[in-house]
This record gives sequence, structure tokens and C-alpha cells, in this order.
Amino acid sequence: MSGTNYKHDLVGAMGLPISENPTGLMMEAAFKALNLNWRYQLFEVAESSLKDALTGMRALGFKGMNFTIPHKVKVLNHLDEVASDASIIGAVNTVRIKDGKLIGENTDGKGFIRALSEAGVSAAANHVVILGAGGAARAITVELALAGTKRLTIVNRNPERGQTLVDLLNSKTPAEAKLEPWQSTYSVPANCDILVNATSIGLYPDPAKPDIDYDSLSKKMLVCDVIPNPPDTAFLQEARQRGARTLDGLGMLVYQGAIAFKMWTGKDAPTEVMKKALEEAFA
Ligand code: NDP
Repeated sequence: MSGTNYKHDLVGAMGLPISENPTGLMMEAAFKALNLNWRYQLFEVAESSLKDALTGMRALGFKGMNFTIPHKVKVLNHLDEVASDASIIGAVNTVRIKDGKLIGENTDGKGFIRALSEAGVSAAANHVVILGAGGAARAITVELALAGTKRLTIVNRNPERGQTLVDLLNSKTPAEAKLEPWQSTYSVPANCDILVNATSIGLYPDPAKPDIDYDSLSKKMLVCDVIPNPPDTAFLQEARQRGARTLDGLGMLVYQGAIAFKMWTGKDAPTEVMKKALEEAFA
């Protein structure tokens, strides 16, 4: 949990080393590039202290915070307002403090949509297939549905978790969603426009790739991964070998941060600087 505009150094036993946090390094690089005397600080907060921590951050003049698991969901209980998309997703990764109010946002899915848009691809797709039904899949599918994607197929190993996401999308968004339980090698339908790996498979140091029939991929598909480290996963390499265009998870991580940065500072984020900071952190 972090984010501040301290004018003075904060010295405290609770501060965690920023050198171990890629997002922190990315934000600090962005503040520096824009000559902003801001700091991004990391704090480990027990669930029982979450409300007190938020009250303290507001009192200390923080402009906002990011939250990681498990606080992304629990923080919803302690906010003054929640953006409508974050409310549907049921998780908040960013809070901005405006006029003393704590406002919950979710920039993960928005970061994915911005990465698509920077690659010249519309989020208003006909058919998107998502591998996974966890937090990343939830944020991405809700934002895609709100941005005009017509059909979403959720492919998940745990069918209950997959069905929960399908029900959420069908009841709270205009998109039509369906579940494919993932029990054996999954064959991607030929009418899929965008395929997204939103599982944790392939995250460093795991070199694995999702169990799909790679020969079912085609040139007309855009294949995306949420894994930011390594950015060029085995999944994306296999897709490129079949002629598909690919989009890595580094862009999503940069843009989810850039959107939060703008919410806090009011300024456009220096995304190239942020990307370089992440690449150095993951090297
Ligand atoms: P969750 O734990 O909420 O969900 C993990 C998902 O991966 C579940 O659907 C799970 O399936 C599936 N999964 C994991 N292992 C396997 C496996 N061996 N076979 C099949 N399915 C599997 O994690 P998150 O959604 O929060 O994060 C997922 C990934 O997204 C992480 O690697 C994270 O780093 C990345 N991420 C990237 C972001 C970015 O900006 N680039 C932002 C947020 C996350 P099941 O339900 O069956 O267990």
C-alpha cells in the first residue's frame, strides 16, 4: 500500500525497501522525470489495521494509494466512493483522495484497454477468449465488456470460479459471456479475435505456458499475456510462431500505473520512462 506527496523524507520502521517493488521503482522514476517532489512508499498493513491506515494516510496528506492482494477487496469497506467499473469488478487497486474523500478505482483492466488502444486495436471486439478467472481476468473482462466487446469466453480450471465471473459479466455488463471448463488442452475457436492469458502461468521463474492447442491460433488473432515478467513469455513466442500478433503484459502494467499517476498528479505520465524502469527492474 503506497503513494504520497511528502515534502520531507519519511523515516519509519514500517517503510519497506522500494528497491524490491517494480511498481514503486516505476512510479519514483515517473515523479523524477516530471520533477515532482513526490514519494511512493511501501507499507505492509494488517487487515485489522486497514481502516486506521487509510484514516492516517488521509490525515498525512497522501494523494492516493495502490493496494495489492489481499487488500484489493477488503478496502471497499472503507471508502467514501467507488468508481462504477471498480464496483462491478469488486476490487480496487488504486485510491485517489479528493477533497478529503477516499475514492476507489481499478486501473488494471483500464491499463489493458489502453495497451490495446496503443497497439491500434479496438476493445469493441466481437469475441474475446480469456484464460483464467482470477483478479486480472475479472478486471480485464469487465472493462472489455464496458468498452463494447460483444462476446466473452472464460476458460478456467476451477469451473465454480469461472462461472462466478460469467454470471457477473452477464448480469452487470452488456456483453454475453460463457464458460469453458478447462479440463484438457483447450482449442481456441476460429472466430476468436483476441486471446488473453490472464492466468499466473509463465510468471518468473515459471517457464510454463498455458495448455492450449497452439495450432488453433491464427494470423487474424491478437494474442495477449498479462505476465509482465518476463514480458516475452513462451505463450507469446508460440503465438508469434503461428503468425499471430502479440501484446505483452509489460504494457498493461505500465498503463495501469500511468492511469493511477494521472489520477493522483493530474499530469500525463511519462510512460516510456516507466517502461524503462520496469525493464531494468525485471532484467
Ligand atoms: P489470481 O490468483 O486471482 O488468479 C489466477 C488465475 O490463474 C486463476 O484463474 C487460476 O485458475 C489460474 N491458474 C493458475 N495456475 C494455473 C494452472 N496451472 N492451470 C490453469 N489455470 C491456472 O491471480 P490474478 O488474476 O491476480 O493474477 C494473474 C496474473 O496476472 C499474475 O501473474 C499477475 O502477476 C498478473 N497481473 C498482471 C498485471 C499487469 O498489469 N500486467 C496486473 C494484475 C495481475 P483457478 O481459478 O482454476 O485456480
